[in-house]
Amino acid sequence: MNTFPLTLAQTEDLAQKFPTPFHLYDEAGIRDNARRLIKAFSIFPDFREFFAVKAAPNPFLLKILAAEGLGADCSSLAELRLCEAVGLRGDRVMFTSNETPDEEFREARRLGAIINLDDITHIDALVAATGSLPETLCFRYNPGPLKAGNAIIGHPEEAKYGLTREQLFAAYARAGELGVRKFGLHTMVVSNELDEQYHIETARMLFELAVEIHRRLGIRMAFINTGGGIGIPYRPEQKAVNYETIARGARKLYDDIIVPAGLDPLAYNMECGRAITGPYGWLVTRAIRRKDTYRSYIGVDASMANLMRPGLYGAYHHITVLGKENAPATKTYDVVGSLCENCDKFAIQRELPEIAMGDLLVIHDTGAHGHAMGYNYNGKTRSAELLLRPDGSVIQIRRAETLDDLFATLDLESVSDFR
Ligand SMILES: *Cc1c(COP(=O)(O)O)cnc(C)c1O
Repeated sequence: MNTFPLTLAQTEDLAQKFPTPFHLYDEAGIRDNARRLIKAFSIFPDFREFFAVKAAPNPFLLKILAAEGLGADCSSLAELRLCEAVGLRGDRVMFTSNETPDEEFREARRLGAIINLDDITHIDALVAATGSLPETLCFRYNPGPLKAGNAIIGHPEEAKYGLTREQLFAAYARAGELGVRKFGLHTMVVSNELDEQYHIETARMLFELAVEIHRRLGIRMAFINTGGGIGIPYRPEQKAVNYETIARGARKLYDDIIVPAGLDPLAYNMECGRAITGPYGWLVTRAIRRKDTYRSYIGVDASMANLMRPGLYGAYHHITVLGKENAPATKTYDVVGSLCENCDKFAIQRELPEIAMGDLLVIHDTGAHGHAMGYNYNGKTRSAELLLRPDGSVIQIRRAETLDDLFATLDLESVSDFR
């Protein structure tokens, strides 16, 4: 787990200018992480990571990642627009969506994004929406009971995503007949998985399938995409995934499966979100209330509007009390937000140092699926996002929402005349 990069005094200074709660991202950490990933996978003839935009849809972060050579994986109109805003287009953008509206297919084509279809019927839907098929097309494979999922993503056969095995063969054949020239094969079968072997086995599954598609249909894959799903160590006792272990394991399978089949070079792609920015973001919040009833509660100024994962999945996020990093954990608290929802808890029965009102709490690993997932229930507004630059300065990369933002879709003037 990464330590929070600012001291208590620095954070108090920052909070003068940007009131809590706020998310803070560490640019140097994100850049270094992206470089380590690319270096590990440079043993493939062609590798690209497409950052899953939904994990942290902030154009400043996207621009940093684009500068490091990453592409972007989008699944909505808004995400495509963010890519365009930072100059990502063409084959730097993957469009992996499901139940895709026509408008989004059109936008993806306009940007020249690589389209990853989620169903065999989407071949015709794409033609109907855009008038033609692109030169490159990818399909998302759902292995169903052939592959075990994990707790967050569930069993593949219960997932709404992707084509079955037989549909996949039919889809490539059909796309080939309709003039598609370049093909990709995609899957996403796991989420937040820390076991390197699991990711290597996903590569094996796609390598073997690429060989079989070539054998049965004569279609040669230009790339495979193993999806996202590399986990991060949310808990102190967990260990970060070793990118080199995955890359070396997958490279060995590439040599065993792809090279002898004459399918080398085959590009190796993935679209991780969590692993790229997750450990380099923190939610900073202040303790504002304390109550002792059947349990001891610390009320903070953040809520599920800022971070849903604990409430939504019971996810663990480590919490540090700033300035009390080395103090003994003598208390047991539920750390809670202010929503009228009992799941609005950042920590349940967590052992922590004694917390005083006004203390700053740092919630770790909020750099992916953190701010992005926030919602406005109870009329709570989402926080600002701040970026710690490599030179030590801090800039605001998204301001906090205001009540005006919240009411922007309402006409409060006309309601006064409404009877
Ligand atoms: C969410 C998602 C990702 C990113 O998942 P992480 O767990 O953040 O790595 C990648 N691809 C697709 C299709 C997704 O839906």
